[in-house]
Formats: sequence, C-alpha cells, structure tokens
Amino acid sequence: MSLPSAIRIENLVKRYAPPRGGGEGKLALKGVSFDVPQGGIFGLLGPNGAGKSTLINILAGLVTKTSGSAEIWGFDLDRQPRNAKRAIGIVPQEIVFDPFFTPFEVLENQAGFYGVAKVLRRSAELLEAVHLADKHDAYSRTLSGGMKRRLLIAKAMVHSPPILVLDEPTAGVDVELRRQLWELVTRLNDEGVTVVLTTHYLEEAEQLCDRIAIINHGELIADKPTRELVEMAREKIVRVSLDKDLAGPIMEAGFVKAEVVESRVLEITYDRDKASAGQVLALVQSHGYTIEDVTTREPDLEDVFVRLTSAE
Ligand code: ADP
Ligand code: MG
Repeated sequence: MSLPSAIRIENLVKRYAPPRGGGEGKLALKGVSFDVPQGGIFGLLGPNGAGKSTLINILAGLVTKTSGSAEIWGFDLDRQPRNAKRAIGIVPQEIVFDPFFTPFEVLENQAGFYGVAKVLRRSAELLEAVHLADKHDAYSRTLSGGMKRRLLIAKAMVHSPPILVLDEPTAGVDVELRRQLWELVTRLNDEGVTVVLTTHYLEEAEQLCDRIAIINHGELIADKPTRELVEMAREKIVRVSLDKDLAGPIMEAGFVKAEVVESRVLEITYDRDKASAGQVLALVQSHGYTIEDVTTREPDLEDVFVRLTSAE
C-alpha cells in the first residue's frame, strides 16, 4: 500500500464569470485530474494562460471551482476546508505585502492568523532559513524583489504545512536569485516538505522536479515521472559539418527535418525508432559530401513539450 497522495484533484472545472459586455466566461480548467505524491517536488508545467494559477488559486481558496473535487493531505476542500488549508502553504504569483510591517512582523501576523501559539512560532528561524535574518526589522517595502519572494516563502511556511506550493517562483527573476530559490526549495524538500511548483520554464521543471504534469488550454496532457517524460522524446538531432558548401537541401524518408544552419552545416532531426545515427550519416554521404564533424544533441523536455502542445 503506497502513501496517500499529498494532493488529489479530480475532474476540476473552472469557468470564470462572463465578461461584463456579455459572452461566455473563460473555461480555464476543463476537467483536470491528477495526484501529487507525498515527498517529492512536483512540477505543474504549461504555457502562459494554461490554467496553472487558476488551479493553484482554487487550492488556496482564492478562486471557487465550478465543479470537481480536491483533497489536500486527505482533507476534502469542500467538507474539511480548515484542515485542508492548514496542510498547505501557498506562495502566490503576485507579490503582495503590507509595506509598513517588518519581515518579522509579517511572519508573526501570519502565524497569528493561523492560530499558531506564541511558543510554537518560528519566525526568526524562518527568516534565517530564507537568508533574511539581517532584515528582521527592516520595512518590507525596502526589500528587493528577490528578498520579497523569499519572505513570501517563509510566510507560506509559518504553520509548518507538509505541502508548499509555489506559483511561478522564478518568473522574471535573475539567474542568481533563481539559484537561491532552487536551493531553498530543494532544502525544504530534503527536510520532508512536499513541494508543488508551477513554471513555464522547461529547464527548471526538468532539473528540479521528480514528477511533472503538463497542462495546456485547461487540459492535462501529461503526468509522469520526469525521466519517463523526457524519454518520450522520440526524436534525436545530429549536426554535421561538411567538406563543401551544400548544393541544395537534403531530405530523406527517415528524416523529420533537415535544416541548413550554415553553408556547410546541416542539422538533421530524425526519429530514433525509424533510423540510426549511422544511417543518417550514410544518407548524407550518399549525396556526395564528406562529413568532417558530427555532434549529436539528446532530446530534452522541450522536445517533448513542443510535440505534446502542438498535437491538436
Ligand atoms: P497560467 O497561470 O497558466 O498562466 P491562468 O490560470 O492565470 O493561467 O489563466 C488561465 C485562463 O483563465 C487564461 O485564459 C486567463 O486569461 C483566464 N483567467 C485567469 N483569471 C481570470 C479571471 N479572474 N477572470 C477571467 N478569466 C481569467
Ligand atoms: Mg500563472
């Protein structure tokens, strides 16, 4: 018997209210179901407008679902909303703070909101964890964007929830801060927190998450361990440098795409189930060229993502 899910979502539908001018409200989620297992880092991936924030905001109680159900740590969102809420900490996509509180006060207020007893509060420890100990008494409005994001993560953790959800934690942040946030998320996960994060950065999902669900236009189109998802890429790419300029395009039955990158450089995408690198090179040579250099590129999540999101 495996562990119960951290989050279980069944047939979740959200239709937003129609615009004031009339017409149909946006159908942002079209019946999405998936389970988030306990203990991992789960990525909810999708292009802008896919419905990621809608889904997260339903879990946060900020958006009311149209139909379907959700369980958080075994608690039904409709029937046991208080328990469900206690089991999850959510870092929203938008940064909002009262600018006149200090980081310490922000955390204390939030702990009070959750009814965490004074002796059980860990505001100072949390500030330490997100590297803001020296900002204990600064006004929140004086923090940099990166500091605010880290403070939001600490704020989401005041009631020590077993699940932390981050909505686009690294959208528009610089490389250094992104690295810091990844480190923080990984550390919390190592300490036993189940992490869910949404992102539209494929590389981020591939590196950080052990399982990934992809949504597109409000529909779930994949939900797999990251490694299996990446292995779904059937295509491989080989780049060949030739001894002379290409006289014309080269296209063969086994190729998916043959692109001239430079006058003597050709990039060929082929289906690894239908051809081998050796066959591809032999076909190029059969056109009268000598191959001077070959590099191959392994498929990555982006290749899978492009294929899945364009298959409609
Ligand atoms: P994502 O977070 O994946 O970028 P969102 O969940 O924010 O996507 O949005 C999904 C769709 O729902 C988009 O088409 C968006 O315009 C629409 N939408 C989001 N919020 C609202 C709202 N409050 N009212 C109406 N439509 C909305
Ligand atoms: Mg969003």
